[in-house]
Amino acid sequence: MPPRASVSALTDSVSVSIQAPGGWYQSNSGWIRGADGGLLIDTCATEGLTRRLLAAVDADLGARPLTLALTHAHGDHANGAGAVRGRGGTVLARTATAHEVKAGPHTFPQVFDCSVWGDIDPPADITEVEAVQAVDLGGRVPEIHPVPVKAHTAGDLVVWDSADGVLFTGDLLFVGVCPLAIQGNVRGWLEVLLGWLPAFEAKHLVPGHGPAVDRAAVTPLVDYFQWLIEVTDKPEPDFAALYADARDRWPDWLDSERHAVNLLVAHAESRGAEPDLMAAITALMTTNGGRIVLDL
Ligand SMILES: [Zn+2]
Repeated sequence: MPPRASVSALTDSVSVSIQAPGGWYQSNSGWIRGADGGLLIDTCATEGLTRRLLAAVDADLGARPLTLALTHAHGDHANGAGAVRGRGGTVLARTATAHEVKAGPHTFPQVFDCSVWGDIDPPADITEVEAVQAVDLGGRVPEIHPVPVKAHTAGDLVVWDSADGVLFTGDLLFVGVCPLAIQGNVRGWLEVLLGWLPAFEAKHLVPGHGPAVDRAAVTPLVDYFQWLIEVTDKPEPDFAALYADARDRWPDWLDSERHAVNLLVAHAESRGAEPDLMAAITALMTTNGGRIVLDL
């Protein structure tokens, strides 16, 4: 397993674990340390990656009790929740996320080729959070904020540490990686990026994928979602041409096969329809040339 997760102190009390380069299932985590406890934001895709993460958390927090907040249900962020619960930690998530996580880990063998999942059984109990909730860590009180509309998923939340101006955005923000709206809503996501997220006036944004950044990193995603909405707002878009255009416009983003999915989702929204998930998965695999091999 390549040692690509890099743990560092973002501030005196906030640490981040950034997996580079941040492609499929290579997601970020972080934690906030108080005098009496720690709040971990997200886990990893595999048992091995989560073990490494929790070793770094233990080294920093010692015996302080741990609370885990899941930004959403996707397996790269949530597959380690059972490991945290198994150690006596509390797991917090939106209701939609809790239901999806408890239904079983995200592995999707029809789409992804991976042999290193390990034990990723979900936790039996998750505490549901549907309103702003402060988590008192002792001298440190970060807040969990549910995202008010369907954006990356129907169960997104962010974690806000006002003391240091750090916002853990989960997959509301991808940096250097193509975003993925397969379970989301492009219009809702854009609305969140334009109005809701900036209101925190965060100094540091920790994305779900890619390095920690400042607020300027939101702009490319805003541009992208506006483009998606504009070019798919017609009865029969030329998806192949638009896919090629997207790759030209955002040439540096990893995992460009996701454009094929995002175009379908945006087009379904323009007709007031639910996206055809099977068509989206087929588009993903066709543009990728088969199952996606995970490098974990
Ligand atoms: Zn996600």
